[in-house]
Amino acid sequence: MPIYEFRCERCGRIREVIVLGGTCQPPTCEQCGIAMKRIMSPFAYNPDRTSERESRVMKLASDYLKDGKVKDAARFLKKAEEHLKTDTIKRASEALNKAVSDK
Ligand SMILES: [Zn+2]
Repeated sequence: MPIYEFRCERCGRIREVIVLGGTCQPPTCEQCGIAMKRIMSPFAYNPDRTSERESRVMKLASDYLKDGKVKDAARFLKKAEEHLKTDTIKRASEALNKAVSDK
């Protein structure tokens, strides 16, 4: 299940989209209202730079949490876990998914 990353060319905002179906429509920037442009997913490049990708994943997850999107963060981390098997991501994913299922 691919994860695509989009960036707004006007304000530079980056958004992560987990593609559940076959096609992926580019999301619209919440700030500018224009279609965002697809960029390479953090999972698709620099296969050796695990820690860099890990911190990127954790940042995206915390962005979800900042917005109060606990379920999205949990879902995102669960997906990320499949692509990037590190202890930090695994622990964060377990904790969040537990928090979500306890509700
Ligand atoms: Zn924008």
